[in-house]
Amino acid sequence: MSKETLKAQAQGRNGEIDFDIEIENREIADIKVTKSSETKAVFNQAFGQLRDNVLAANSFNVDAVSGATIMTKAILESGQKALDEAGLMPAPRPVDRSHKAVTLDVDVAVVGSGMAGLIAACRALSMGKKVVVLEKNGYVGGASILNGSNVTATGSKLAKKLFGSLAEEDSAQRLFDDITRECRGTNYPEMSHLLADNIGKAIDFITDFAGLTYQKAETQTIEHSVNRQVEMPSQSSYEVVTKVADAFKAKGGILLTDARVEELKKNPAGVLTSLVAEGKHQTTTVNFKSLVLAAGGWGAKDFKEHKTDIPYYGPMTSTGDYFGFAKGMNLVTRNLDWYKVYPHGLEVEPGIAKLTTYSTKEASDMGAIFVNRAGKRVVNESLPYTHFRDAIANEKDKTCFVLMDQRIWDRYYELMLKYGFTAEEVQGFFANDGKKSPVLVKGDLATVAQKAGIDYGNLKETFDHYQEYAKAGRDPEFGRDAKFLHELEGDTYYVIEQKLRFCTTMGGYEATKDMQLLDNDFKPVANFYAAGELVGGANGKDSMPSMMNSWSYASGFVAGTAAADNANNYAVDVVTSASHAPAPKPEATSGASH
Ligand SMILES: Cc1cc2nc3c(=O)[nH]c(=O)nc-3n(C[C@H](O)[C@H](O)[C@H](O)COP(=O)(O)OP(=O)(O)OC[C@H]3O[C@@H](n4cnc5c(N)ncnc54)[C@H](O)[C@@H]3O)c2cc1C
Repeated sequence: MSKETLKAQAQGRNGEIDFDIEIENREIADIKVTKSSETKAVFNQAFGQLRDNVLAANSFNVDAVSGATIMTKAILESGQKALDEAGLMPAPRPVDRSHKAVTLDVDVAVVGSGMAGLIAACRALSMGKKVVVLEKNGYVGGASILNGSNVTATGSKLAKKLFGSLAEEDSAQRLFDDITRECRGTNYPEMSHLLADNIGKAIDFITDFAGLTYQKAETQTIEHSVNRQVEMPSQSSYEVVTKVADAFKAKGGILLTDARVEELKKNPAGVLTSLVAEGKHQTTTVNFKSLVLAAGGWGAKDFKEHKTDIPYYGPMTSTGDYFGFAKGMNLVTRNLDWYKVYPHGLEVEPGIAKLTTYSTKEASDMGAIFVNRAGKRVVNESLPYTHFRDAIANEKDKTCFVLMDQRIWDRYYELMLKYGFTAEEVQGFFANDGKKSPVLVKGDLATVAQKAGIDYGNLKETFDHYQEYAKAGRDPEFGRDAKFLHELEGDTYYVIEQKLRFCTTMGGYEATKDMQLLDNDFKPVANFYAAGELVGGANGKDSMPSMMNSWSYASGFVAGTAAADNANNYAVDVVTSASHAPAPKPEATSGASH
């Protein structure tokens, strides 16, 4: 038996991807990644699928994975190149590339496999419905796989288990009040109540349905007036999404990936009845009784259309396709220009941000100061991020800088590498020498000021004052807590750009309290429900930490319940002459797991 391992390297979105190709008896026996800086949640799913396809075909001449095309295409090309250079030509096995037309008849169809869509789908499935989820990407999860899994557990059995008597201090009303205060009353009360009243039921439901184990979130953020945040042990939403998707499939749900919904159809009476989804090798027509639209936000669309000058850091697949395929439904929208905006952004490509949240937070704890281009401090660096965000927004060029010494930089850099940056990337930023974004410069105070385009005279004055405050343990200008006042040491300094960034959209469609979509006349659209980021208003213009996930859970749970309920009633309407009794009507939003 002949065995050989070829080394290959592809260029991914975040840097090089190194992988080994194992050849046994002229067959591709395996491909294994040895180095990658790609976003794990997407990469693991996309690479896993690519590997299966390559092995099945014994060839790198297979389809790239939808939603991860650049990265998977690069792997396929590099794999083929490595085979060519080694003079190896494994005999390809035939692969069916014909295009099929498939029709499915279901009770509930769900568009989107993020947390909102999956919870809606699981809920409807648990109520005895036949359910299909259609996902345009070749992998599940959308924006929902990219966060730390933090969610609130207000009103749940889970909260009682994890927080004990403290859970008694929390209530739906208290959560509602926190939401309202933190978004400064910009929320739509009906949607916020829906969220607060159902998050506990939703989390208990999905915990039972998918056998999940949550823990108290390590960070209980101060925006919440009581400890109520929980998370996965891995602190990754990738874990919760994949477990829920697996449970959905194991219990009989149908999940189609590479199925982009492109068209909605109505019957001659004008009632929504079916959809068409396109994939590389399949056109799927789905006839349904209820449709749940859970296709995520549209941040990438607004980025591409230059609708905002705030750099974007979300998935490129949040393209708001429904504004096209659901146009004929005349749905009413609100606040389409509301974004969840954070500071701590580095503009790594024009219009594209990567976040330095962890690094910048640690730097401020260690004594770094935040200055503007005029060389003045802009904020008490130790206050919650919203203060820094507002300070950046107040600057004419919407840019501020973190000034730190070598000691702080060492930690800053360590955390950059831990959270999404590569050493080569950071080196490249320094090589820009401050001439373009992202600005990362090093040198003595005069040099960093000159390279970053900061007024040196003012910066020197700011620096000297700060050193005195640190020595005295008192900050008369901004009132920064003494425990965060640390003198900057040595004569080598670093200046790191800080811009705003966004990914989550906060406005969207309007819905009833059953998550049924409303048309321009504010009438509920028959059979049409929605969940998640594309329905606006629950968190107002500015969500608290964990609250967009909480909205996905709660709205998904309510939409799934209502869609299943509607499918029961729909059956009664359509089969009026049939002798069988309708299925029992489930208690709306009861939270029971069947
Ligand atoms: C990096 C990042 C960090 C975040 N951090 C937090 C956090 O810490 N806490 C918090 O509460 N929130 C956070 N959020 C926001 C939160 O993740 C989202 O608001 C939430 O996950 C949205 O869930 P969703 O199910 O509505 O949409 P998504 O998870 O985006 O799912 C929508 C799905 O629909 C699919 N789709 C779109 N169009 C079609 C179509 N035409 N046909 C078929 N499928 C389609 C998409 O591919 C996607 O998979 C974060 C978001 C990002 C990007």
